[in-house]
Amino acid sequence: MARTLTILGATGSIGSSALAVVDHCNRTEDCEHFEIEALTAHKDVHSLADRAIKYGAKRAVIADAALYADLKEALDGSGIEPMAGSDALEEVARIPVDRVLAAIVGIAGLKSSHAALDAGNSVALANKESMVCAGSLLKTVAAARGAAIIPTDSEHNAMFQVMERGGDVERLILTASGGPFRETPAEKLKRVTPKEACAHPNWSMGRKISVDSATLMNKALELIEASYLFDFPEDRIDVLVHPQSVIHSLVAYRDGSTLAQLGTPDMRTPIAHALSWPERRLSTDVKRLDLAEWASLTFGKVDDTRFPSIRLARHALNMGPAAPVVLNAANEVAVSAFLEGKCRFLDIRWIVEEALGLDIAQSLKTGSDLGLGDVMSLDQESRRRSDELVAAAGAQMRSEAQ
Ligand code: NAD
Ligand code: MG
Repeated sequence: MARTLTILGATGSIGSSALAVVDHCNRTEDCEHFEIEALTAHKDVHSLADRAIKYGAKRAVIADAALYADLKEALDGSGIEPMAGSDALEEVARIPVDRVLAAIVGIAGLKSSHAALDAGNSVALANKESMVCAGSLLKTVAAARGAAIIPTDSEHNAMFQVMERGGDVERLILTASGGPFRETPAEKLKRVTPKEACAHPNWSMGRKISVDSATLMNKALELIEASYLFDFPEDRIDVLVHPQSVIHSLVAYRDGSTLAQLGTPDMRTPIAHALSWPERRLSTDVKRLDLAEWASLTFGKVDDTRFPSIRLARHALNMGPAAPVVLNAANEVAVSAFLEGKCRFLDIRWIVEEALGLDIAQSLKTGSDLGLGDVMSLDQESRRRSDELVAAAGAQMRSEAQ
C-alpha cells in the first residue's frame, strides 16, 4: 500500500529534499511508495506545476490567489486540480493523509500546520516558526485529535529519535554549526552582505533560514522550538557549537550517559525518518557517514558578544508566550529588510532586541493560553512596530553612508 503525503511548501529547499526522498523510494523496489495528495507553493507557479505533474499530485495550491489563472493554465490537461489562496492551503492540509510535511517558511506556515493537526493528520514539522509562535496550541490540538507532531528540523529530529528510547533526561544539547561568520571578527560583521550571509558552509537552504543561521537566530528559534516540543525549560537546554554538523544533537541522562544521533549533513535523512515514523523503513541515497573520513569533530561555545540571539531567545521564553511571537515577527521583518538592502546585518539583532523591549512583548504572562487569533494579531502588531524599527535602522544606515 502506498503512503499518502501532502507537502506544504513543496518548491523550497525542504520541499525539494522531501521530493527527492519520494523519488528515490518510488524508484526502489523494496521501499514503500508514496502517493502525493497535494503540493503547495507561494508564488513559484511553474516550479509548482512541474512538480505536481512529475509526482502525479491530485491537487496543487498556489498561496498567492492572484496567480490562480497562471496555475490553471500550467496544469491544463494534466487532470491535477488547481487551487489558490490561503484558505485553499488550509483546505488541502485537512484532507486525510498518512503525513503532512509542513515546510512553509515563517509564521505563514502556522495556519496550515494547525489545520492539518486539527483534522487529525500527523505532521512532519519542519516549519519551526509555527512551533515558536504557537507551541502549546499546536501540541494541545494534536493531543486532542490524536495526531502526531514529528520533529523534522534536524536537531529536533535527532533528539526525538534518541528520546524514543525513554529514560530520565537531564539536559538537551542542541548543536550549532556556527554559520558562515563563526570566525568573522565583530568589526567585519558590520559590513557583511546578503550574499555572504546566505553562503552556509554545510547546508544549502532557503534564504531566510540561511540568514538566521548567520545571526544564530536559527539556533535561538530552535532553542524555543525544543523547549515547547519537548516540554523542557530553557535552563536545561545547552547550545554547543559543532562546525561539522555531523552530530545533530545530544541528550544527557540522569545516569551520566549522553546519547547522540549522527549523520552526514543532509536533510533527506531527518525527512525520511519523519515520513516513515513510527517505523524506520524508508531508504535514501544520502552519503553514508564515514567518521574516519571526517577524522576529527570539534566543539566550542557560542560567542555571546558577537551572537546574542540565543540569549534573546532565553529571555523571550522567560517573559511568557507573547515574547517568542514578537521575537519571531521582528526577526522575519528584519531578515527580509536585510535581504532587500533596507538595513544592515547587525541591525537584525538590534531590531529583535528593541522589539522584545516593547509593551506588546510583555502583554501575556506564562500560563496564559494563546489561541490562533491571538497569535496572528500579536504577529501583525509586532510586524507593524518592527517596520518602524527597520525604517529607523535604514535612516541611520543612509546617514552613515553619506
Ligand atoms: P524555502 O524558502 O526554500 O521554501 C519555502 C517554501 O514555502 C516554498 O515552497 C515557498 O513557495 C513556500 N512559501 C513561502 N512563503 C509562503 C507564504 N507566505 N505562503 C505560503 N507558502 C509560502 O525555505 P526552506 O529552507 O525550505 O525552509 C522551510 C522551513 O523549514 C522553514 O521554517 C525552515 O526554518 C525549516 N527548516 C529548513 C531547513 C533547510 O535545510 N532548508 C532545515 C531545517 C528546518
Ligand atoms: Mg535545524
